[in-house]
Amino acid sequence: MLKTLRGILGLQHCRYCKSEFKWKELYQYLWGALYKPFRCTACAKEHFVTIPGRLTNTALTIFPMLIFAQFLSPFKHFLLSIGVGIILGLIGSLISPYLVSLEVDDE
Ligand SMILES: [Zn+2]
Repeated sequence: MLKTLRGILGLQHCRYCKSEFKWKELYQYLWGALYKPFRCTACAKEHFVTIPGRLTNTALTIFPMLIFAQFLSPFKHFLLSIGVGIILGLIGSLISPYLVSLEVDDE
């Protein structure tokens, strides 16, 4: 919870060198291969998305889409509902770099 609150205030910092991750790098990473480590551009230390981080990422992108398309759509038109759902998902994905936490795998 505290981590999430800290995430809202700004982008996460590297656990080692404390340099702030760039939004664009996190965004591209979250849309890409999550099984690969995220590398700090300053010190090249590898970070991994935590399980809550993965869930947050999924929740922010997939759920708005599904919930809107399934239940909240005021549109009778199916494709229009899907389109708005996708836009909501994209908006969710724009804020996910602020909320998804990364950890260093020390072992
Ligand atoms: Zn670093």
